[in-house]
Amino acid sequence: MMNQDAFAKPQPIVFAKTDVSAANQITPPVTAFAAAVSSQIEIDFGQVRIRRLAAGFELRHIADRLRKDADLQLVAETELRRLAQFTASGAFRPLKSAPSLRTGWRAIAQGDAALGSCLNHLYPGAVADWFAMQPAGGSRPTSKITSYREFTNRQTGMYRITTMLDDATAAAMIRACCHPAFCLKQRLWTINGSLPAPDVISQKSLIPCLEPCAILLEFARKITRVEQEEKSRPSPSPAEITRLRDAALAGSKRPHSTIAESDFDAPRNPRRLRFILEKHGMAGKPQ
Ligand code: SF4
Repeated sequence: MMNQDAFAKPQPIVFAKTDVSAANQITPPVTAFAAAVSSQIEIDFGQVRIRRLAAGFELRHIADRLRKDADLQLVAETELRRLAQFTASGAFRPLKSAPSLRTGWRAIAQGDAALGSCLNHLYPGAVADWFAMQPAGGSRPTSKITSYREFTNRQTGMYRITTMLDDATAAAMIRACCHPAFCLKQRLWTINGSLPAPDVISQKSLIPCLEPCAILLEFARKITRVEQEEKSRPSPSPAEITRLRDAALAGSKRPHSTIAESDFDAPRNPRRLRFILEKHGMAGKPQ
């Protein structure tokens, strides 16, 4: 759990200008991203607003965009990694693109390399993925996107069963797992080229998702097991379906419950509840 006392005190910004680690080098993705920020003055990336300064860049949570500088905690680049590890309530964030980045901070990156390093702490690998999807010759380089079938077909061991989900069930599982309430990456991959429809930036963010992540793979494994168990049970009664739907609707209204994000054994895990809605075509109903 984050050391709240340490975080509560003003932290000096100490960017290691002599740091030559891979994370703090100027790479083509970092150069291109910094140029994109500079051309637009500011950019929202995940839940972070990045603003060009006379020298360098400022980063803060989007929710803090109107707050005075003095009301925000100045954090050093090295603090950002720890800041991204936990929610405001101290829960671990296994998925850094979850919409649960804590607020109340700002950081200054004193150059392109520092900007790349700050973002790599907050959203590991995201700038490289963003760069990979920049149009080349007028179109997106879709060859870098891996479909669900391609991804699961190369799984072995306990994840091999994820190939067994039929397209409709896999689509419901994906819509549930990647729902904007749980992840802000823009999913570009599908099951087979069209299903489920890729995310759009307006629902998510500039950060692309090029292939299923570890969270989704684990969720797919659990859903496959649940579906196998359900086939051996009698069909649920209308009353049971109503009860499940009500629980799912209630759970989907408070996605950041006390259940650990990746605890998919918990029947009331918000993603499992969301899956029920997706599977039964109830996700679009007013909530
Ligand atoms: S697979 Fe889904 S949940 Fe995982 S990072 Fe991509 S969009 Fe997010």
